[in-house]
Formats: sequence, structure tokens, C-alpha cells
Amino acid sequence: MLERIEAAPKDAILGLGEAFKADPRSEKINLSVGVYQDEHGKTPLLECVKEAERRLAANPTTKSYLPISGLPEYCKATAELAFGAGNEPLVSKRVAWAQTPGGTGALRVSADFIAANLPNSTVWMSEPTWPNHPQIFNAAGIATKTYPYFDAPNNSLNLAGMLAAIEKMAAGDVILLHGCCHNPTGIDPTAAEWKQIADAVFARGVMPLLDFAYQGFGDGLEEDAVGLKAFSRPGAELMVCSSYSKNFGLYRERVGALFVVTSTAAAAASVQTQIDKVIRSNYSNPPAHGGEVVATILRDPELRKQWEGEVTTMRNRINDMRHALVEALAAQGVPGDYSFMTRQRGMFSFSGLTKEQVEALRSEYAIYIVGSGRINVAGLTPANIERVAQCIGEVVGQ
Ligand code: PMP
Repeated sequence: MLERIEAAPKDAILGLGEAFKADPRSEKINLSVGVYQDEHGKTPLLECVKEAERRLAANPTTKSYLPISGLPEYCKATAELAFGAGNEPLVSKRVAWAQTPGGTGALRVSADFIAANLPNSTVWMSEPTWPNHPQIFNAAGIATKTYPYFDAPNNSLNLAGMLAAIEKMAAGDVILLHGCCHNPTGIDPTAAEWKQIADAVFARGVMPLLDFAYQGFGDGLEEDAVGLKAFSRPGAELMVCSSYSKNFGLYRERVGALFVVTSTAAAAASVQTQIDKVIRSNYSNPPAHGGEVVATILRDPELRKQWEGEVTTMRNRINDMRHALVEALAAQGVPGDYSFMTRQRGMFSFSGLTKEQVEALRSEYAIYIVGSGRINVAGLTPANIERVAQCIGEVVGQ
């Protein structure tokens, strides 16, 4: 019976990574997959992670199961990092939580939770968004729709379009927002715009769900939480999915968390049981190692300081590469004003390159970027940036 099953299409972004690996051209450059790379093109193992792993290995305890919702100390430290220690929902114990396998796991648990507990809700996502967003919610049986986000001609946020769309959402629907470093556009609301968005969302009775996968990659750990804090209001409900794949470089360890902020402590206790129920029938309980590493680092003042320094190094390198690319494009005489790239935040830049130009970059110059024109700025290095700018010049001029 299985021979009748047709092959599924390859994942658009991960498929590009495979094509890159198989490409025999030595000059190839991968600017597609969303993974941070250092100035040598390597995805580093952070020094603080190495040290935490040494400490954990020196004092092994048990490999017994974690609780369904994961390590309590990990969830607490993660909540404090995202919301800020002393933030009212945490103090009021209005937060249900779970350690999850990555940010993707958090999103899927949130989707299953919504499907089971808010069954008629539509989940609204930005146009464009990370392509896995609609897949995750659709896989959980949830209807998805899009709201305007990107003002292409001005390379900026389409705030008016977004607010008008929120006005038309049904009370009880869910709006998925990128907490910072919007993927793929790199365009985030300002603090004042976040406030306007939060006002509109709450006025409409819509549930905010923030995907917070890049804390520290935009302007700083605290600065990047400004959107989350705009929604974290007295008595207000909110969901947050966070990930340590990028800011701890723990991609393959699958470390993330889901937070569901309810209006009362009693509601949080009930919601916690529903989250646990969803997880139990999915993966039962999360893997321990990544959570133990993160909890060790966040709870040790010295390691935490070291981690903050390493996040700063990654963030600064990305922002330096943004400026360097704009300068290299200008030096190559590439027509157009690319200064918008320096205003974008996070690992990605929406370059404005067309599908055809993206295809020409891959086929003629072995430079891989995502079909939408999304460039992983963290894939640029001092050694490859000239060639990238030169080849962009070639395809733009064609
Ligand atoms: N959300 C967004 C917007 C992302 O870009 C990513 C990673 N590509 C994730 C969530 C999830 O990351 P992970 O599952 O690796 O933690």
C-alpha cells in the first residue's frame, strides 16, 4: 500500500541547503539557511556552552525522564530572560510554561493547545512570514490567514495595513507576531509602533502569540524584548514561543520554551494541565541536555556574563556585515540604494532581488539565497563579501 504514496515537495529552505552541499563548485557561497556563521564561515560552539557542558559532564546525575513541562529552573530562567525578572505576570504567577524541543516545538505545542482549547480560532500571520509558520498551524488543523506587514516600495513596516487588518480580525482569533528580527524581512516595529499594535490587538479581543526566536540578535537582549513587554500588561493574555537555537548556538540540541500568560493564577494552573496534556500525547517530555546547558549558564553570573558577551559578538558581526554589504554594493557601482539593509535587524535581509535574479545567482555564480530574496547576512564574511556584491551587480545589471 505504501508504493502509492507520492514524494512530498522538499522544504524550500532546507532543500536549498541540500542542493548547496551537493554543488561541486568550489566558489559556492551559502546565504540561505538561517544559521549564524562566524567570520570564517563556521557555526561556532559558544565558549559558555563548552564550559557548561564540561561542568555537567563532570557531575552526571541521572538520565531519568524530565517532567512533562521540562526543567522548572530552565523555564523560570527563560521566562525571566524573555519577560524580565520581576515582570508582573511572573510575580502574579499568571504564566503556564513548558520547555520544548526548539522554537518549532513550542510553536507546535501552542498550535495543538489552540486546536484543543480555542477550536474555532484562525491564526493570522504576517505576509511574508517564515514558511514553516503556516505548515505548523495547518498540521495541527488550524485555519491560517495573512495580514499585511511589508511595505515593499519603502522597505519598511506597513503599519497602517497591519492595523486595518487587525480591526477586521474576529475576537478570539490569534495573531502571530515575530517578537524581534522578523524573518524574512528584517523589519521590526519601533517601541511606539509595538504599543499601537498591542492596543489594537487587545481592543479587538485577539490573542497575541509572539514567536521570539532571535532575542539578542537585533539591538540587545533587553532591547529585543520591547515588543513582548508591550503585550505584557496587567491582566492581559499572551502566548510566547522562544528558542535558544540562535542566541546559544544550540540548534541541534532543540531548546525552546512556550509561555502562556493567563489573566489569573487559577487560569494559569488550568492551562498548565492542558499544555501538559498536549505534550504527553506528542513527545511526552522534552530532551534534557540543551535545557540543562542553558539553565547552567543563565543561573551562573560568570557564565551568563560570558554568554552575553558572545551574543554581543554575534550581533555586532551581523550588523557589521550589513554595513559592509551596502558599502561593497556601492563600491561595485550596483545601481539602487541598498541603505535599507542597515536598518533591518537580525540575521536576515530582504534584498529586493527577484526570483529570476536569485535563480541566476545560484545557477551562474553558485551563490545560494532563498527565492524570496532573503539573504542570511550571517553567511557573509570578509572573504566572500566582495564576490557577493560583484555577483549581485551582475544579476541586477542583466
Ligand atoms: N521562528 C522563526 C521565525 C525562525 O526563524 C525559527 C528558526 N528558523 C524558529 C522559529 C524555530 O527555530 P528552532 O526550532 O530551531 O528553535
